[in-house]
Amino acid sequence: MAQRQTRDQRSYQTKVIIVGTGFSGLGMAIRLKQAGIDDFIVLEKATDLGGTWRDNTYPGCACDVPSLMYSFSFEQNPSWSRMFARQGEISGYLQHCADKFQVRDHIHYGVEFTGAEYDEDDGTWTVSTADGTEYSGRALVSGVGALHIPRYPDLPGVERFEGEVFHSAEWNHDYDLEDKRVAVIGTGASAIQFVPRIAKTVTQLHLFQRTPPWIQPKPDRLIPESVQHLFRNAPLVQRAARAALYWVLEARYFAVFNRRLGKIAEQLSKRYIRKAVKDPKLRAAVTPDYVMGCKRILLSSDYYPALNRSNVEVVTSGVAEVRPRSVVTGDGQEHPVDAIIYGTGFHVTDAFDHLSIVGRDGRKLQDTWRNGMEAYLGMTVSGFPNLFFLLGPNTGLGHNSVVFMIESQINYVLSCLRPICRGKLGQVDVRQSVQDSFNSEIQTALTDAVWSAGGCRSWYLDENGVNRTIWPGFTWKYWLRTRKVDLADYETVARQSR
Ligand code: NAP
Repeated sequence: MAQRQTRDQRSYQTKVIIVGTGFSGLGMAIRLKQAGIDDFIVLEKATDLGGTWRDNTYPGCACDVPSLMYSFSFEQNPSWSRMFARQGEISGYLQHCADKFQVRDHIHYGVEFTGAEYDEDDGTWTVSTADGTEYSGRALVSGVGALHIPRYPDLPGVERFEGEVFHSAEWNHDYDLEDKRVAVIGTGASAIQFVPRIAKTVTQLHLFQRTPPWIQPKPDRLIPESVQHLFRNAPLVQRAARAALYWVLEARYFAVFNRRLGKIAEQLSKRYIRKAVKDPKLRAAVTPDYVMGCKRILLSSDYYPALNRSNVEVVTSGVAEVRPRSVVTGDGQEHPVDAIIYGTGFHVTDAFDHLSIVGRDGRKLQDTWRNGMEAYLGMTVSGFPNLFFLLGPNTGLGHNSVVFMIESQINYVLSCLRPICRGKLGQVDVRQSVQDSFNSEIQTALTDAVWSAGGCRSWYLDENGVNRTIWPGFTWKYWLRTRKVDLADYETVARQSR
């Protein structure tokens, strides 16, 4: 069982330290527990669990991956109320998992991970936290994910703005948007969900679009009680439906690397724009000029209708300046507003820059990743033994459920943690040559792929234009490679030899 010292104690010792309680951290905790490993602690900076599905509470927040696939394979919820669950239902699902698999007692809330240092002699990681409490363990698992540090754009003059300002991931529910003039910056996955909701409430909505996204209609609907009843009473039917859905989503990958299929998908989306957007000028403004798939393909059936509203204006001339009560665009036009809402996304490829992670021989992760983040299978980094990243570099997806990737990784990490926790292995450190050849394979596959060659700029690419986020292939191929650790890929040290 994890150490249960009182919270005024300043240091804890355990076998495994997990950071984060989203799908990754929680899933890791559950699988450890199921494997009979009880000596672990989960650190959570907030006062509740749930990760991105706790933080993002903006109006209309929902998943754009079908619920049947956006859940753990070992806990397939038969009671999803919709095809695409909304935020509250997903966060409720995670709460349910924490209860059912009894991992709550392992979570230390209000503990912000600030860094970690590896002691090679001792074979332990010591984790530092914002309040000074220390945690040490034989292994460290990062479940912090990529989408948790809101990105605030550097708009000239914004510090002088006298109205309300907030980010989609930090929605101010105390601010009443009724009868307000609002600027929304960004037209990504989050904005296209909250714009239709707030458009009905605000007096005027100025939507600042830099790049239009490719959008397809969202086939969302309620799941009838009869189907939920069937899933509850015949779990095999739900498993079969999930398996079928997996392959349907997997097939979407063909459209990403097959240009002919991609063109057909683009034509369908353009036809959707022609049908949904009445004004030809607006239609031209929201039609992308880059290859579909270069940025995340979005799903929405209410976004274009919202843009048709008389109180919504799509502004494409770019923000030149923010004044105390207005936003001025590049063409000199002044847009008076009471509030600015950022739908500008997250720090992704630089998400670890603020953490101090020190591995063998005083090696810093920031230095190791100075020219771009990379890991073996997105999980392990040479020189940082017994440290595992869930949803690390190049394991994000545009076509299927990341929960599938997370579960593949948890499986792999567990196959490393078992011998470590049982005292058979002291240290596993991926060989640099193995990591290098994996990353050269990945980058070769990515070179001409749509994310780099599709004529767009996205958060998939780092500042050097290198794709550090996407897994370039089918997810079953990733699953095949991560079913079990091959210790030949690692330099290992037995525990006894210490
Ligand atoms: P995002 O997709 O990165 O979109 C950010 C938007 O802000 C883009 O339109 C971007 O324009 C714009 N932008 C950024 N900086 C700007 C600036 N300085 N001036 C003007 N516009 C600016 O962010 P997001 O919508 O928060 O979504 C982030 C990710 O979260 C998604 O890609 C997805 O993976 C995830 N997400 C998932 C779901 C789900 O249902 N599974 C739902 C929401 C979010 P450019 O395109 O020109 O850069």
